[in-house]
Amino acid sequence: MKKTLITGITGQDGSYLAELLLSKGYEVHGVIRRSSSINTRRIEHLSHSARLDITHDPTQVGERLYLHVADLTDASSLNYVMRTVRPDEVYHLAAQSQVRVSFDIPEYTGNATALGTLRLLDAMRDAGLDHTKFYQASSSEMFGKAQEIPQKETTPFYPRSPYGVAKLFAFWTAKNYREAYNLFICNGILFNHESPRRGETFVTRKITRGLANIIAGSQDKIYLGNLEAKRDWGYAPDFVEAMYLMMQAQKPDDYVIATGETHSIREFLDEAFGLAGLDWKKYIEIDNRLFRPTEADILLGDASKAKRELGWEPKVKFKELVRIMVEADCKAVGVTLKKAN
Ligand code: NAP
Ligand code: GDP
Repeated sequence: MKKTLITGITGQDGSYLAELLLSKGYEVHGVIRRSSSINTRRIEHLSHSARLDITHDPTQVGERLYLHVADLTDASSLNYVMRTVRPDEVYHLAAQSQVRVSFDIPEYTGNATALGTLRLLDAMRDAGLDHTKFYQASSSEMFGKAQEIPQKETTPFYPRSPYGVAKLFAFWTAKNYREAYNLFICNGILFNHESPRRGETFVTRKITRGLANIIAGSQDKIYLGNLEAKRDWGYAPDFVEAMYLMMQAQKPDDYVIATGETHSIREFLDEAFGLAGLDWKKYIEIDNRLFRPTEADILLGDASKAKRELGWEPKVKFKELVRIMVEADCKAVGVTLKKAN
């Protein structure tokens, strides 16, 4: 049975990837970090026991699902997990992943997101895992101030945030380790991807959750920043499939994963509030604190290499994505869209 190690298993992508790999028969090991409140909500449905006493030694929580405590900022914990699990495949998804927050905690972002990747790659090498495959969660934020539209694998990078800079360090480290040590390492350069499990402070989820609460009568306003930025938003379950496909390819490489459509925050608001028959302008307030010191104004990806070489294409596009997210948030607070119309 193939063993996989997922860092960031409690995050949006980690939870969908764990589902996918369990369905393919893998033994899945996930890294979680210590927190004062339980942070395994997104993988609860995959677990048969909600154990609270997880250590860095494997703790079985589901059929073929094990959890380990470790932290990206703690090399010895990563070394220990790598030596204990000896995975066939590593999906490195853990990161301080919030762009706005990266301006507030730049040093931590560099430590976790940039150096954390280096630590994990070194842990893999130190454990002598020369045949283990490694996936690095790279990001369209590395394109930042986009040097061409659309962005593809050959587009020059120009990060616009401490997060983007940290991801660029991790990208180049992954690429250098592939070349220096002849390892199977892929960079998936993923454009924004969302779902009902998206973190509540990312703009899509903030809007769909806020809309559901407005319909339910428990929230009056949603406070937002820059409405003009454009993003290429895809659906997270489609995107974790691309990660898996990269790791099954004949040779390791870097791929842009995107839908090929870009929309502004305004358009997202039009679509989401339109589903409820509401005018978003009555509910949105601009909060200047939510603007970023430097912004990635337009991200639009060209995933033709992934289509050609991996046979990957997105199944869910913008309008369906918005509907999925709005419906899920409405269901979560017990309201239906129909009632609002
Ligand atoms: P997410 O929901 O924010 O999940 C991040 C994960 O990393 C969580 O499991 C988190 O644990 C864990 N983590 C954070 N700091 C850690 C630390 N110091 N030690 C150990 N674990 C730590 O992110 P996502 O949306 O699933 O994204 C997955 C990856 O893809 C991230 O690296 C992100 O930067 C990258 N990416 C995402 C997108 C996107 O649009 N979603 C696009 C391109 C790239 P807790 O649950 O305890 O917080
Ligand atoms: P990002 O592309 O990884 O930074 O994903 P986000 O969902 O955090 O932000 C997407 C875009 O929405 C960025 O251009 C933000 O400036 C913009 N935006 C506008 N208002 C907000 C807000 O209230 N929260 C967040 N997170 N982003 C906002």
